[in-house]
Amino acid sequence: MDLTNELNCVVTQSVQVSPIMKIIRVMPQGWQFPPFEAGQFVALGLPPSYARCSESTEEHAEPKPDRLIKRAYSISSSSNEEVIEFYITLVHSGQLTPRIFDLKIGDKIWMGKKAVGMFTLDQIDKETNIVLVATGTGVAPYMSMLRSNALKRKGKIIVIHGAANSWDLGYSSELRLLANMFENFSYYPTITEPGNEPSGWAGDTRYIEEIWESGVAKEKWGFAPSPENTHVFLCGNPRMVDSMKKLLAVDGFKVHKKKEPGHIHAEEF
Ligand SMILES: Cc1cc2nc3c(=O)[nH]c(=O)nc-3n(C[C@H](O)[C@H](O)[C@H](O)COP(=O)(O)OP(=O)(O)OC[C@H]3O[C@@H](n4cnc5c(N)ncnc54)[C@H](O)[C@@H]3O)c2cc1C
Repeated sequence: MDLTNELNCVVTQSVQVSPIMKIIRVMPQGWQFPPFEAGQFVALGLPPSYARCSESTEEHAEPKPDRLIKRAYSISSSSNEEVIEFYITLVHSGQLTPRIFDLKIGDKIWMGKKAVGMFTLDQIDKETNIVLVATGTGVAPYMSMLRSNALKRKGKIIVIHGAANSWDLGYSSELRLLANMFENFSYYPTITEPGNEPSGWAGDTRYIEEIWESGVAKEKWGFAPSPENTHVFLCGNPRMVDSMKKLLAVDGFKVHKKKEPGHIHAEEF
């Protein structure tokens, strides 16, 4: 079955960040992506007939031949741009990511008609401080927030980003630059496998949980984050999200729910 006529976008850029991470940019063809809130996600899709990249392993299950393989991805580009950017990890045995990793500039891809999700800053008071915690590609929605209008907020913002190796810390140059340019913004990267670094690593090597417990936000801000003055966003590995929720609960932070407003916002990949 030919599903290629469903493909409504073209790949305009594909940057290999590390052996297992890619940034791709996608441009709608003949339609306009509607306005979205930074932090939201959208579905991407490809036909099963598309080739899988050479680094992939056997597929865990064969996809249905008569429909596009679709998955959710957080947008990393600014909400003011026409081209939509994504930061994607290769899942070697997965169905969609090995096909995304084989895409070349000019190839076609399907993207959902609108972005969705509640993982956004729009309901949070401008004076409130924001902690943005990510593992791996979980930094994607934060890039969209920072590139949109988050840095115009009055409160402090810190990104704490954990990855295995320094080369997996996508967007680190941009985040370092922003930290140098904006007084209210700090960036705190950490890697868990420093033994792999070819030229060493002078930064932190602890897990995000330990870094949080050691008081990194207080150190950067000069005051302790509390539920009264701070909201915390958690994005990426479900284990990190779960253990951070438990740690934050000790200090009185509550998970935000539609009917029960809280201070912890979570997106699990
Ligand atoms: C809101 C949201 C936002 C997201 N944003 C991003 C993002 O910005 N970047 C990003 O990289 N990812 C993101 N994800 C994850 C993304 O949606 C996909 O889950 C991911 O890319 C894997 O897709 P895949 O088709 O390659 O793997 P899948 O085919 O979905 O497989 C995923 C994993 O499950 C295993 N698996 C699944 N089914 C079986 C089975 N039956 N037997 C054995 N193993 C199985 C696979 O081996 C593999 O390890 C997001 C997810 C959500 C929910």
